[in-house]
Amino acid sequence: MRLVLLGPPGAGKGTHAKILSEKFKADHLATGDILRQHIREKTTLGAKAKDIIETGNLVPDALVNEMMFEEISRVGKKAFILDGYPRTIGQAESLDVFLKKQTMKLDAVLDFETSEQVIIDRLSGRRVCTKCGGNYHTRNIPPKKEGVCDKCGEMLVQRKDDTPVTIQHRLEMYLKETSPLIQYYKRQNILVSVPGDYDVPELQTVLKTLFDEMKLAV
Ligand code: ADP
Repeated sequence: MRLVLLGPPGAGKGTHAKILSEKFKADHLATGDILRQHIREKTTLGAKAKDIIETGNLVPDALVNEMMFEEISRVGKKAFILDGYPRTIGQAESLDVFLKKQTMKLDAVLDFETSEQVIIDRLSGRRVCTKCGGNYHTRNIPPKKEGVCDKCGEMLVQRKDDTPVTIQHRLEMYLKETSPLIQYYKRQNILVSVPGDYDVPELQTVLKTLFDEMKLAV
């Protein structure tokens, strides 16, 4: 099974990718998480990406493509879920060429259709663990103890790119650069729209029915 999760920031791609990857024993390749890991480890790529990410801009295609091709090659022929990649038409075209060379293809692209109000609410309330990357929301998914990660006890923080001005900019970048991918994958007949506004359990139910219908195998 090879999936792409498409949708604006805050649509729930990461949350659902995590659940689906455990269920289907697929590798969850989250571009944002991999980039943030590069920043923490102070790699050359991390140094190039840091300011770009913090201001809500997109990391250049060439850098992201190279990084993701390496990740996909590492996964080999196993199942994978791409979360946050591709995000531009250029990335989508390069990914198609790359997969074709490896005689692989995408099974489906799930488009998380999400309203602006829900996006802003989710992102502004999001808190993340500085150590294990655990994801919380001040109201929807509160930790047991305020400001502390349930899983590892580390401190929870707001991501630098989850502030109102940067959220707005990321939404603009999504509309300009990423939303054209909806048509791109529609033309390939692999686009499936899902309701990103739904709460997590409700959307998981929708996805289960969808996967049964599509007979998606690992
Ligand atoms: P979100 O989906 O909530 O925006 P991510 O963690 O997926 O959060 O991405 C955070 C940031 O990482 C993006 O705003 C962008 O700067 C960078 N990034 C992630 N994926 C890509 C990509 N495919 N191309 C370019 N930049 C990316």
